[in-house]
This record gives sequence, C-alpha cells and structure tokens, in this order.
Amino acid sequence: MTKPALTSLSPDALAAWLASAGEPSFRATQILEWVWKKKAASYEAMSNLPAALREKLAASFHLAALEHTHTQGSADTTRKFLFRLLDGRYVESVLIPANPALYGESSDRRTLCVSSQVGCAYGCKFCASGLAGFTRNLDAAEIAGQVLAAEQLSGERVDNLVFMGMGEPLANLDNLLAAIELITGGKTLRLGARHLTISTSGLVPQIRQLAEHPQQIRLAISLHGATDEVRQQIMPINRKWPVAELFDALDFWNSRKNQKLTLEYILIENVNDAPEQAAILARHARRIHAKVNLIPYNTVEGLAWKRPSYTRCRAFRDILKNAGVSATLRLEKGGDIDAACGQLRLKQETAEGIISLAG
Ligand code: SF4
Repeated sequence: MTKPALTSLSPDALAAWLASAGEPSFRATQILEWVWKKKAASYEAMSNLPAALREKLAASFHLAALEHTHTQGSADTTRKFLFRLLDGRYVESVLIPANPALYGESSDRRTLCVSSQVGCAYGCKFCASGLAGFTRNLDAAEIAGQVLAAEQLSGERVDNLVFMGMGEPLANLDNLLAAIELITGGKTLRLGARHLTISTSGLVPQIRQLAEHPQQIRLAISLHGATDEVRQQIMPINRKWPVAELFDALDFWNSRKNQKLTLEYILIENVNDAPEQAAILARHARRIHAKVNLIPYNTVEGLAWKRPSYTRCRAFRDILKNAGVSATLRLEKGGDIDAACGQLRLKQETAEGIISLAG
C-alpha cells in the first residue's frame, strides 16, 4: 500500500498521529510550520526535529501529495504547473497574475486556478478536461497541495483561489470541503474563505448543500447558455438540472449567503452568442443579482468550436450592460500556453500512453 502524504493530515490528525507515535504534542506546531509556512522541500530540512522523528515521518508519509514536473510560462507571466500524483496521474494548476500595466486592473493579486478531479465526467462539449472522461477524485491533500506547491514554485503568496481547473468540484464535495479546511486553516495555508471561488457546471443538490456551509465561499456558475435549448447542446448536465431548477437553487443560495454570484459564459461562435441569448441572460442575472463574466472561447486542440469576432463579443456584453447588469469581457491571459483547463495534462498522459484519445 502506498504511503499517504503528510499534507493529508489535519492539525488534529497530526496531533493524534504524534501521540500514537509516542511524540510530544508540541512537535505538531513545528511540523505544521515546516510543511505549510516554511514549505520545506525535504524532511532533512526540518532542522529542529530530532532525527528519529524525521525518520518516523519519512517511513510513514510522503512529504507532498504531488510532484512538480513541468512549468509552462506565457508572455503575460501566467504560469501553468503540471504535477504528477503519487499514483502516476497528472493534474495542472494555473497561476494568473493581475498585471496592472498590461490589463489596467487596480490590484496585483495572484489567482490560482486549481483542479479538483483527474478528468471529468460531465463532458461539456467545449472542454479539454472532459475529452478523456473521468479517472478519479482528488483527495484533500492533492487539492490543497496545488496551492502549497504553486507558492513554493513561484515564491509568491496566492491571494485568490478559483476551483475552475480540471474536474467538477461539487462532484467531489467531501474532499473539496476537507481541502478548504487546509486552505483556510490558521495552522495551514491561512487564506480567507472570501478569496475562494468554487465554479460549478450546475449540480443543484450540492449547490443547496454548500449554501448551508458556514464559510463565506464564493460561487460561480458555468452557464454558457441562457435557455435549455442552447445550454444542453454544449452542457449535458442541463438535461439533469435544467436552467429553471438551477436558478431556483441560486435563489436558495442567495437566501443563505451575502456574496454576489457570478455567471460564467464562454462565447462560442454561432452556438450561444446570439443577441437573444444576451437578453435572456440579462434577465437571469438581474433576478439573482449576479455579475457576468464573458469569456471568448479559447481554441482547444481536437475540438471544432470557434471564438466569435471581438465586435460580436462586445455587442453581447453591451446588451447586458444596457440592461443594467455588471458584465465584463475577460481579457485573455495565458492563451499561448494551453490555458484552457486540462490541455497540458491531456498531452502528458497521452504521451505516456496512460490515456488514448484515438477512436
Ligand atoms: S467545463 Fe468543468 S464540468 Fe464541464 S467537462 Fe470541463 S471540467 Fe468538467
């Protein structure tokens, strides 16, 4: 059986392990500091721990849940990290700067886009992650470990987290919530829950469940179609949870949370970019007081969808704005580094023969 990662232990679980190993309880604080704060690269680096304890730890746990294998950097300094998991599978995370010089934004916050599963079962037609189907859920250490590793690799603090990488986070809710404990915990990564955004394709029961969660986590919905007809062409989940049921769940969310919802809408030429869709989308957004992020489609190798012209994207946005909806047309970052989630991992696993996309 493979060893678990040390990062999979919550502070309480680490304290329990130390007690069972006959070690004093104050070692827990030291170990947590080495792992989550100082981001130690090896057990040897944990210089204030006795050698015998370091050996016990090494015999029982891998230090990290994932190993960095590759970084793709882009001209705008967006960086995509590819990580190998302990079972040989791959996931990726994207570190996106908000560069005021390039984008005219008012902050220099760094956002990390995190994966929650290997592959994805939801099969959205425009998405690289869905191409090879679903392999498995990530555990809490593999999710939180992406943040730890990104901070280690970049030497920078991550300010915002979006669960928008590979996988449907709400289909892996238990592990996601355990990861959020590690990410927001005072002894672990110490990131405020308000800086976390979970993006979902629209799993209605889990949206309702998450609405009852005590932390003020943000929620974004991958809508990508304002009516059932258009949405289910590209998002099979819409057959299970149609637009009306989804918006009922979002009303429920609003009754429990005071964070503004976001509707994500990828603009795809001749699929969902008609002015009529914009008008209906505006009505939905007004009903739930949501802001809208419009994202011109980023071409995915092997898929035929196209990005609309910039003029058409702007016209779509203007219909929303004229209807009083807060809407942004996202300036693309990382388009030159396979930034659409899942593309880098697909290339790596295909090259290693782990998956095959043929046929
Ligand atoms: S867009 Fe999200 S939910 Fe849809 S297939 Fe891709 S990863 Fe899965």
